[in-house]
Amino acid sequence: MVPKFVAISAHWNIPAIKLTMTAELQKYLLEQCREWMLPEEIRALTRIGLTKHGEEVTRKLALLGIERMHIRIAERLLKDSAATIINNCPKCGKLARTPRAKQCRHCKHDWH
Ligand SMILES: [Zn+2]
Repeated sequence: MVPKFVAISAHWNIPAIKLTMTAELQKYLLEQCREWMLPEEIRALTRIGLTKHGEEVTRKLALLGIERMHIRIAERLLKDSAATIINNCPKCGKLARTPRAKQCRHCKHDWH
């Protein structure tokens, strides 16, 4: 996936966040941020997910859809919820495993 700059508009008391959509960030958004997703986004992911185990031709077609769908959902999550979703380690600044994680998987810093 080609990294893309995503500009996040600031809330009144939260500094604007400018994030680069990377494969790691997209995986985080799609796998760890379901509670911020719209019902139709969750349904779409579930339905496409089922077709992954279907016939080869169907699977290939579905994969084209999955890629674009994943990008769209991940970018929407960032646009609407970055301030609450993004959980960067206070020590090394890297992305934690989940929005509520309090231990860094990169540097092992613990902020419980
Ligand atoms: Zn860290």
